[in-house]
Parts: sequence; structure tokens; C-alpha cells
Amino acid sequence: MGSNDLQLEMNFSEKQQNSFRKTVESGAFSLLIESSVPGPQLPARDAMKQLRVLEEEIAGISALPCGMAIVDRPGNPEGWSGIEFASQMSEELRDRHLVYLSGFNRDPGEIDRQLAIAGNSGNFNIACVSGDLGEGAAARTDSGQIFKKVMAKKGFFGGVTVNPYQYDPWALTAQYSKLGARILSDAGFFIAQTGWDTLKLQSLSWYLLSHDFYAPGFVRLLFLTPERMKHLLEHGQPGIIIGKELRRTMERELKLDRVLFDVAQFTRLERQAAACRILGFSGIQLCGADHPKIVAEAVNAVRKGIDSCTTFEDFLECYHNGMAESEVNSFHLKFQLFDRVLKRPYPFDDPPSPAELPDPGVTFWEKTAVRFSRKDAFAKNRQGVSTAMKCPKHNTLGPCGGVRHDGRCESGSQECVYRKWFRFAHACDALSGIEKEMI
Ligand code: SF4
Repeated sequence: MGSNDLQLEMNFSEKQQNSFRKTVESGAFSLLIESSVPGPQLPARDAMKQLRVLEEEIAGISALPCGMAIVDRPGNPEGWSGIEFASQMSEELRDRHLVYLSGFNRDPGEIDRQLAIAGNSGNFNIACVSGDLGEGAAARTDSGQIFKKVMAKKGFFGGVTVNPYQYDPWALTAQYSKLGARILSDAGFFIAQTGWDTLKLQSLSWYLLSHDFYAPGFVRLLFLTPERMKHLLEHGQPGIIIGKELRRTMERELKLDRVLFDVAQFTRLERQAAACRILGFSGIQLCGADHPKIVAEAVNAVRKGIDSCTTFEDFLECYHNGMAESEVNSFHLKFQLFDRVLKRPYPFDDPPSPAELPDPGVTFWEKTAVRFSRKDAFAKNRQGVSTAMKCPKHNTLGPCGGVRHDGRCESGSQECVYRKWFRFAHACDALSGIEKEMI
């Protein structure tokens, strides 16, 4: 079945089926247009109007399977949740969309309430996230606990997120292991959060293949307007490292007139789409395409990208002509789990073996302390590292996506507790048992 046939089926499917799941499991490359729950400044009526216009545009797309990803915004107790907002969309199209459920400001009881609304409204495709660090959260639920709840509900299709843009060996291993554990627990899909480094996408893909972890993956990409680009250059964004070359490229683009600026963004999207497709991902979640005209052009760019690069060699040419300069040369921290990434496709005849991790830097005295603290029931099996107590989000089941590229916690300068756990496990030769423990 071609992707166009599938699209027709998605538009006119009989009730009760889950089109998103069917598309994802068919292997068709698809596009999710991201939309957020509106902030308090936008009246509900206007927000709904915008959402419906976007939904109508997406429903009319036939070039590739397309749906929406509704991102949660739990910081405003008076506002809608992602699931409530998604429940306002057309009943007959809801099964083609994906909704985020965040643990920020929600206790497990509230998560159950949100899932009940999702079930009653036919929003069965749920991406589980811990949510922002934020200030003053009255409660928090770990994304792992949300995931367990989703997976326990009949008919739900649950997914998780991963931050592959890590340049520290233990922070990277912690992210990969968390994802591996979720896949072994039957995650239906995963979403790689925003970043710029194609090498990291191939590393992730190789890690999954070399461990026989099969789950459809989406890559979250950012469509930039001049305003968003300026903001990004000034304030940065978790997961995105802007090195010298990339900064220069973006500054050059900012000097272009608006038409040429947009052409540069669609060209970037086209190349990124080619990369995602060739590297084995199942689709793209596009953030920033908030107008029907942009959606239409984004669909053309994605289609063009995947049609123009059908082999790894095509892709390499496209990568070296338009992406490599601003990516590879941008990063001063370059730890890669495998060698020769972006030089060849996955070598099935000679599967890659992970690179040696550097010395974990754990002292004799720290190791001794670890042995003592193993007696502590809370820290048992975690090489003595207390995770939930020390994690500002109280995560118990793995690192969040906000961990910085060098392994620091998103809240400040201290080491992410999961990075510390993995570093200590490495020092104690206990890394291999961690996936099992995380499950
Ligand atoms: S300690 Fe790690 S998992 Fe916890 S909030 Fe910080 S970065 Fe996230």
C-alpha cells in the first residue's frame, strides 16, 4: 500500500480504528504538525477557530500521512490541558492525532482523570512527558509513571520522548537506556526532542538497531521565523547547541528578505526530512508551522526531501552539500557512541560496537561510600546514588529530556542524578544490568 492510499484510508476510515497507530505501524513516513494549548492571552473561541482551520488544512493533505501533535500546557490551572484541547477537534479525525500528557503540576490522580477524558473523547495516542522544571509545581508525576498508566489502559497507544543530543557519555547512555527500557515495555513510538545534530540521529538509530529495539521514531524539528531565530540565537533552547558555523549561517539568513529567508527554512526542512527518512525514522513532528500556508509548503518540502534522497549515497551528498558544515563543525564536545557515523548506512555485516567510555572519574573513597550506601533501601541497586530524592522533578524511572548536553541538570550546574548513577555504575562494572532495573 502506498502512502497516498494510506492517506485516503486515514481520511475516510471507519470509526473506532486508530489511524495514527495504523500509519505508524505500516512504516509510512508521516508528518505531525505541532500545536500547543493556547495561553491565557488568547480567548478560547479564537484558539478553537485557529485549531479548526489548521485541522481542515491537514485533513486535505494527500501528499503524505499527516496529523497533529497537541502539546500540553499544564502551567495554567485555569486553562485547558492538551487532552481537553484535543477533545475540541473533529470527532471523526481525532484518531489521526497525537496528544502530549505532562506530569508537571499533576499528581497520579489527576493523570488518571486526564486519561479518562482522553478515553471518552477518542484521544488514544498519548506521548508521556515529565514536563518543564518550572516554578511552584504543586505536584509532579514522572513520565515513566504516566507511561505505565497509559500502557495499562485498553485501546491506548503510548509513546515516550528521548533527548539524543547529549555529548557526555553517561548522560547519553542514560537517555538511550531509558528509551530502550520503554521500548521493551512496548512503547508504540518515541519522539526525539528538538536538536540540530544529524550524527546524533544516526547514533540513536544505530543504538536501537544494534540492540534489536524496534519502535517507530519521530524527530521533532523547528520551523523558524526571523523572530524565533533571533530568540534562539539570544536565549538558546534545551537540546540545541548553536556552534560557530551554525550561528554564522543563521545570522546570514537573518539578513535575507522574508521571501528568501523562508526559502532557506524550507530548504533546511527538506534536507532534514531526507535525513530522518534515510536514517530510519518514521516521521517528523514539526513545531512552528502554525499557519495553513506554512503547513502546505512544509508538506511540499518534506515530500521533496524524501523523494529526492532514496539511497544513503544520495543523502550523504545532500548532507555534505548543505548540512555538514553548520552541524559537525559546530560542536566542541563530540562524544559519539559509535565510530564512522554518517559515513555509511547501518553495517549489518559488521555491526558497530559501542566506543569505550572514558574513565568515570569515581575515586576509591567514593566507591567505598557507594558500598556503604547500598545498604540504604532507597538507593539499592543504583550504585548508592539516590535519584528521586535528588532530582528536582523527582523522577524515579529515568532522566528527563531537559538534561543539558554536557550532563548537567536543567535546573543548574549540578550533575544530573541519572548521569551520576550511570557514571558510578560504570565505575562498578554494573552498566549492563541497568536497562533491566529501569524496566
Ligand atoms: S536531575 Fe536529571 S532527570 Fe532530574 S530534572 Fe535534572 S536533568 Fe532532569
